[in-house]
Amino acid sequence: MSGRVILVGAGPGDPDLITVAGLKALKIADVVVADRLVPTALLDEIRDQAEVIPVGKVPRGEFTPQEEINRIIVEHALAGKTVVRFKGGDPFVFGRGYEEWQACEAAGVPVEYIPGVSSSIAGAGLAGIPVTHRGTNQGFIVVSGHVPPGDSRGTVDWGNLAVSGLTIVILMGIHYLPEITARMLAAGLDAATPVAVVERAATPNMRVVRSTIGDVVSAVKESGIMPPAVTIVGDVTALGPAFVTC
Ligand code: SAH
Repeated sequence: MSGRVILVGAGPGDPDLITVAGLKALKIADVVVADRLVPTALLDEIRDQAEVIPVGKVPRGEFTPQEEINRIIVEHALAGKTVVRFKGGDPFVFGRGYEEWQACEAAGVPVEYIPGVSSSIAGAGLAGIPVTHRGTNQGFIVVSGHVPPGDSRGTVDWGNLAVSGLTIVILMGIHYLPEITARMLAAGLDAATPVAVVERAATPNMRVVRSTIGDVVSAVKESGIMPPAVTIVGDVTALGPAFVTC
């Protein structure tokens, strides 16, 4: 009899920031196929009970192709296993979770989805930044910066975003930050617009750099911020309670 696949959002990195449903799924897994951004402490807890298969994707480095990940989860489920696809943040916020869902459906494998705390929201929140704040702005948008403005693979109109009046949350946006900020400045975004970059949110190594859209590229360079990091653009990033100590 076929097993099944459960796509589980692991949260941004702190073992306490996974949902109760996600943790329950992890505890009944026979096989866990895990990203590099998941809380590793949780993997250590279940190693005696389940086979853990790492499928890390280091940006511009070593990675397991998506087709291979799809093949692994389907193969184990067809062998009768309960497979947890353990993904950093939320499975459907980038990271190609829906392709995994489709691969399961195509193979006739039952598949479920358990949402996770996405770094796109948690990254700002853990730095004490409200992604929306009544009276400051009316909404936020989450985009991927893994390709630069003007790239044929991209679908984001950065110029329109720049003048949208929304908080802009950029994931995978460190490498092309110079191109992205230049495009938004050219579209009319005020150079003094506040920006925060949150590196390794929800981990003991979390760091926050606060700057402006005009200066953030040099601020990131000076601080040595590396992925994974969330970049938040907009007036809300100038807010932030005093309790954040990092
Ligand atoms: N599904 C994930 C996002 C995967 S894309 C989610 O919902 O959070 C990978 C990107 O997520 C990274 O490049 C970075 O921009 C962001 N990210 C993931 N975990 C993070 C963390 N702990 N701190 C800061 N950014 C993080």
